[in-house]
Amino acid sequence: MNDRELYCMAREAMKNAYTPYSHFNVGAALLCEDGTVYTGVNVENGSFGATICAERTACVKAVSEGHRKFTAIAITSSRGSASPCGICRQFLSEFGTDLRVITGDDADHLVSYTLAELLPDHFVL
Ligand SMILES: [Zn+2]
Repeated sequence: MNDRELYCMAREAMKNAYTPYSHFNVGAALLCEDGTVYTGVNVENGSFGATICAERTACVKAVSEGHRKFTAIAITSSRGSASPCGICRQFLSEFGTDLRVITGDDADHLVSYTLAELLPDHFVL
């Protein structure tokens, strides 16, 4: 699974985003260490605080299926590249800060960062 393939999976997943309020669609594809990929989309709610981001949707799906080790996550949005929000950065850091975060305006213009670069001093309980 290369970055482009993972990004394209996020792009495809984005079609299922539920965004009746913002119309800002986000898709994510989380690559597990064993090669399994879980996708996620943002799911908005009329009680705005209950909204969940695509990155956390993908992570919750993976964790609930028994996965704990992740190598990369691709993120895309209806406006092109998308960087994970603060909550998602912290949420993902629970499983390691070596995670590669891949995004870009399209599959031909990808950039990647480590989660440690995006969240250098993550909270640890
Ligand atoms: Zn988020």
